[in-house]
Amino acid sequence: MVENSRDLVIAGLLRRLARMQQLLIVARILNETLDLETLLRYIVETATDLTGTEAGSVLLLDSKGEHLRFAAATNIKPSALRELSVPMENSVAGWVLSTGKAMIIPDVHQSQFFYVGVDEVLGFHTRSIMAVPLEIHERRIGVLEVVNKIGDRPFTDDDMESLMILGSLAAVSIENARLFQQSDLISDVVHELRTPLTSIIGYSKMLLMMDNVPAAMQKQFLGTIHREASRLGDMVNNYLDLARLESGRAQLHRENVDLNEVALEAAELMRPQAAERDIALTLELCAPACPAHVDKARLHQVLANLLSNAIKYNRPGGKVHLTVAPAGDQAHIRVQDTGEGIPPDILPHIFDKFFRGEEKEGQVKGTGLGLSIAKQIVEMHGGSIEVQSVPGEGSTFTVVLPLETS
Ligand code: ADP
Repeated sequence: MVENSRDLVIAGLLRRLARMQQLLIVARILNETLDLETLLRYIVETATDLTGTEAGSVLLLDSKGEHLRFAAATNIKPSALRELSVPMENSVAGWVLSTGKAMIIPDVHQSQFFYVGVDEVLGFHTRSIMAVPLEIHERRIGVLEVVNKIGDRPFTDDDMESLMILGSLAAVSIENARLFQQSDLISDVVHELRTPLTSIIGYSKMLLMMDNVPAAMQKQFLGTIHREASRLGDMVNNYLDLARLESGRAQLHRENVDLNEVALEAAELMRPQAAERDIALTLELCAPACPAHVDKARLHQVLANLLSNAIKYNRPGGKVHLTVAPAGDQAHIRVQDTGEGIPPDILPHIFDKFFRGEEKEGQVKGTGLGLSIAKQIVEMHGGSIEVQSVPGEGSTFTVVLPLETS
């Protein structure tokens, strides 16, 4: 009997040692991963591995400290994550965040804390939950959760210990990755803003230093200053818009709309720009309608941007054709142009932040953010955006969106 219980203690200690060894490896990987998305994915996968559960998720508090949003989950598609949040009241994550205490719920249906909203959206069936706070120096940044122990066994003390240790390591790594991301972005932005700024400073300095500048030259310099200052303003505004979308601070205001209507409005807005360049803008709509649950203003922004590019990168006398067509339970919105096309080597980069193709003589310089914003908005809708292009012949951008079938 004594032998037996000693063996049990030793077996328990060996198991614990193996877990600690595993956690040391995890700590090293967490420490080395600076890309936030990769890091979050690793955290949720490790959490389910360590605890033998069906799924895991990380919820992070937004910058205003008001909402808990899913940042990563093993059972949720990344495109659906951003729109899912849980309330602070009457939810496990909300309770763990506000009290700073860990929590186990063996049967969620017996619990007042469980928030059913997420299961309803995902069609997932949560039976049990274990959750720990993500905390750095007593500042809580979010919650790490695992659900449904495999085989429906109860959560053990070992599971809780593993998740607590993982949670405290994860919190520090998430904070580091965020800081790293910010410093990286700030240097990108500063670098990009420097070009128009240098031009503004250069031309205004010349105007100040030169005596008796001829009127025509004065006008030309002022024109450049005005154009570059406007571009600087556009860059700042677009950049702020993109940052809001990426961080989840900009929410979609969805309503049921006919995509034809959004396409028509965007085309009407762009007609003067097309006429100015002698470009024929034609439309082909869904018959009778293409209903979708979308943020109308945001989708309008996407189409206006694609049309504006199709006009801007076209040749005078060229064509732009906008099509809205159903394809199964999706809608395809296509913007086709007969412009200069996009060389294959730059095609994979055109959706990157600040990416701009080579500037041609007389072309208005852009901010290089339009397509990044468009892609972000379309993906927030659970859709995708694709491009095909033949240099010298033209490009086709296709936005794929889910149709509202109900
Ligand atoms: P911007 O137009 O402000 O430069 P975008 O993000 O909208 O920024 O586009 C990025 C780049 O992709 C453009 O600089 C251009 O080189 C290329 N591009 C976008 N749309 C088209 C198009 N319809 N035809 C050719 N090139 C395009």
